[in-house]
Amino acid sequence: MPVHAAEILDVRLWRAPDHTRVVFDLSESISYTTLELDNPRRLVIDMADARLINALTNLPLNNTPIARVRSGVRKGNDLRIVFDLEAKVRPKSFPLEPNERTGHRLVLDLFDDDIDNIKDSEIPAVKSVDQLANRRDIVVAIDAGHGGEDPGALGPKKLYEKKVVLAIAQKLKARLDETPGLQPVMIRDGDYYVSLRGRRDLARKSQADLFVSIHADAFRQASANGASVYALSTKGASSTAAQYLADRENSADLVGGVRLSDKDDMLAGVLTDLSMTATLDTSLSLGARVLAEIGGFAKLHKRKVEQAGFAVLKSPDIPSILVETGFISNPTEANRLNSSSYQDKMARAIHSGILTWFESHPPAGTLLAWQKGNQSDGRVYVIARGDTLSEIAVRHQVTLDSLKAKNGLSGSTIRIGQVLQIPDGS
Ligand SMILES: [Zn+2]
Repeated sequence: MPVHAAEILDVRLWRAPDHTRVVFDLSESISYTTLELDNPRRLVIDMADARLINALTNLPLNNTPIARVRSGVRKGNDLRIVFDLEAKVRPKSFPLEPNERTGHRLVLDLFDDDIDNIKDSEIPAVKSVDQLANRRDIVVAIDAGHGGEDPGALGPKKLYEKKVVLAIAQKLKARLDETPGLQPVMIRDGDYYVSLRGRRDLARKSQADLFVSIHADAFRQASANGASVYALSTKGASSTAAQYLADRENSADLVGGVRLSDKDDMLAGVLTDLSMTATLDTSLSLGARVLAEIGGFAKLHKRKVEQAGFAVLKSPDIPSILVETGFISNPTEANRLNSSSYQDKMARAIHSGILTWFESHPPAGTLLAWQKGNQSDGRVYVIARGDTLSEIAVRHQVTLDSLKAKNGLSGSTIRIGQVLQIPDGS
């Protein structure tokens, strides 16, 4: 009998809010069994005819229920891997077929046993705005693309899309956090993968008013550059490039690791729903606003909002846009995208686009709707982070002097959350 052991080429570990994912890179597919044991609590994987190439050290076990990982040879050719556990977990394992970017993989997900608690905490507490007075916050779901097993597009010097877009997402969150009337929710807030469908589910659970997916583009030609904004298309894509991009973004589940049974089963039929048409109109209009803000400081790849069948944008009732912040495959743009100041500008532009759009189209029952309703007898504006008096004056088409006079201000000092009366414009 020829001995031809499968090789475990690498082992990676990612911690998500509700589970720990362990990924084995394999030289070929293997047969394996898992076994849960108590006293002490541990999980065993036996792999038939397999051997480990590297030691199981340097796995980031912090904040995971795994105390230790060890391995041993069994029955001559078989491999046993043992996870010593500090807490109860619900294990799920599944193999992944090779794709363009990776070979055979075996995924082991250890779900935390106290998942119910975590689910509750994922739903954001609405800010302390007076609920009884019908002034709720507008909830913005921020979706940093890719994560964990899925690095997204790759730039020079091993710059990963997943890292850049998480940084921009976190900066956007910080701005929204300080904006009265807006409440951010992070769809992913660390280096782990969430399925495309899971991202939409999280947005729905958070009762999001808007879903913003943040990405960075890549293309064969390094010269391709510029930012763009996308909305869903219920028919074809608005260009072949948009189609190409949507196909690539939609393949994230293959790279990130999603079980066959978890695959998206949403029917195309739901997209013809009337509510979808209204949602799409909002997505396009809001997307155009965000694109205009980005165009204020960055080069644009396309001057209008493009459309294609992005799976992550397929919520029938939540307006959803996807921002490609630039081409990470372009060395100059990759440098910019990797800089904190450029990430800041991008976050600021997206924030500004969202805020100004909702200021003019606030959903009923929100603080912004209440503010807008008060505009007839003198408009009000609540100061957000980064605002300056002169900017507020320009935005409301009033002079700086009249703005100061109306509010009895002598200097230019303002504070976040301060309410300004906006004088009647000329
Ligand atoms: Zn992407």
